[in-house]
Amino acid sequence: MNNNPEIPLEELTEKLLRTNLKLDKWLDKSQDKLDDLQEKYAPRTEFNRWRNSQEGQEWKKQKYRQQNKLCPICKETITNLKGSHIDHIKPLVPYSYLALDTNNMQVTHAECNKSKGRKID
Ligand SMILES: [Zn+2]
Repeated sequence: MNNNPEIPLEELTEKLLRTNLKLDKWLDKSQDKLDDLQEKYAPRTEFNRWRNSQEGQEWKKQKYRQQNKLCPICKETITNLKGSHIDHIKPLVPYSYLALDTNNMQVTHAECNKSKGRKID
């Protein structure tokens, strides 16, 4: 009366174990990919945190004054500090170790920073 062909329990158990093994491997690979991604984005995340901190804000104001309110890229005046960007002179990729090095930072127009490509500081 049973429509399903009988599958021996041993066979079923083995299938289950094999599936479980595949799942474990897949999870391992996913974790590796996640680790890679986190490593890649960590410098930017750290920089963003610093930029939004009191220290970062103060640094930006000071740097702005030091630069005589001039954008080092186009040499024109930055009229509004609020819309300006902190540019990494040497880009985060591949210079991730310079992410929080203020010697590697300058205040620029948002547009000038973007025109350097792939950067959105
Ligand atoms: Zn500019």
